[in-house]
Amino acid sequence: MRTTFLTFGYKEIQTPTFEHVELFTEKSGQGIIDELYTFADKGGRNLTLRPELTAPVIRFYVNQLQMEPKPLKLFYFGNCFRYDRPQKGRYREFWQAGCELIGTKTPEGQAELIALAYTLLKDVGVEKMQGALGNLTVVRALFNHFNLTQEQQQEILPLIDKQAFDELQSTLENMGLPDEQTSKLLTLLQTTDISLLEQALQKDKEALEQLSTTKKILELLSSSFGITSFTLNMSIVRGLDYYKDMVFEIEAPALGAEKQLCGGGMYDLVKLFGGTSLPTAGFAIGFDRTVLTLETEKYHFPTCPTHVYVIPIEEEMIPPALQLTQQLRQEGFFTDVDLVRRGVGKALKYANTQHIPICILLGPDEQKNNTVCLRDMNTGKQTTIPQQHIIKELKQHLKHQ
Ligand code: AMP
Repeated sequence: MRTTFLTFGYKEIQTPTFEHVELFTEKSGQGIIDELYTFADKGGRNLTLRPELTAPVIRFYVNQLQMEPKPLKLFYFGNCFRYDRPQKGRYREFWQAGCELIGTKTPEGQAELIALAYTLLKDVGVEKMQGALGNLTVVRALFNHFNLTQEQQQEILPLIDKQAFDELQSTLENMGLPDEQTSKLLTLLQTTDISLLEQALQKDKEALEQLSTTKKILELLSSSFGITSFTLNMSIVRGLDYYKDMVFEIEAPALGAEKQLCGGGMYDLVKLFGGTSLPTAGFAIGFDRTVLTLETEKYHFPTCPTHVYVIPIEEEMIPPALQLTQQLRQEGFFTDVDLVRRGVGKALKYANTQHIPICILLGPDEQKNNTVCLRDMNTGKQTTIPQQHIIKELKQHLKHQ
């Protein structure tokens, strides 16, 4: 994932594990306190373990990075903490891999951001994913179009977020929305046909502009990035408090109930944290859920075994064996050395249990002749080779592993 972020021109950033509580209450309101691990430190400061990294990164941006040329592309890996009921794929401590794109809101900027989220997951090996692209300005315009009050909007948003459309239908009916309008709103929230939304909102200039951007993003995703697994979905709402305009999510069907792998969009936080307002967007991928997805999809996780195990045959051979070990490490071989003087037989057995493919045995005769004994652990074949050929021989052997 780190390599993929770097190939998209992003730079890594780290922030502290805990922050002042206000950073998150300012962003999401007092209601978020229930979900936080808060505590008072020895100085009586009200702190919290971070529940996510967008607010900390934007705090950092406002304090330190505002003068940097734009756009700024920052990525991070970090552990997050939420006081939630733990279940499969939902933990109290989990990891996020995410990024923030600061200083652009062009369709190409947004499309590249979404393509990055998709590429990160694709490149680590996730096979089945479904992406959804929504827009909160359009959702708000729909609510206004159907004359829903602020209060009513707040009540139905969680239902839309949960995609609980049956419950949404009865709630709208209870609110007194005529049947015909209820079913129209339900259709528009679930349609993948952008022209239906354009027709419904033809008098709302701002919503039409956002729909046109949405169209461009989808076109760019498919024509320039070769990504066709995103569909329009206006029921992606992601908490209206600080997201605005474009929002997106990626789901992995392999995950079952907690199937959301990634969520992101455009948001407004810079001004709230005292900076000069500019467009910002970002996303976070659930790292643990990515691993769960790969496990469910029967991904074969690569291991990084030690390449070489160096065994000094006698006590006097320990210093040259350590020296050789260091030399091999400097050449980039993953090299371990016997540190417990267990004797050749047991050392070879140990190397076997660790699936180390090559052992190098160093005895007084070899040392005298400037040679080493190289044992291929798969075939059991031992060859004596000149010390100056070790690197070449090792490369040759490891190529065939
Ligand atoms: P959010 O910050 O809520 O938008 O979450 C972004 C991503 O983090 C989600 O799509 C999940 O994959 C992951 N995530 C959120 N909460 C948890 C949790 N409690 N345990 C594990 N992963 C989580």
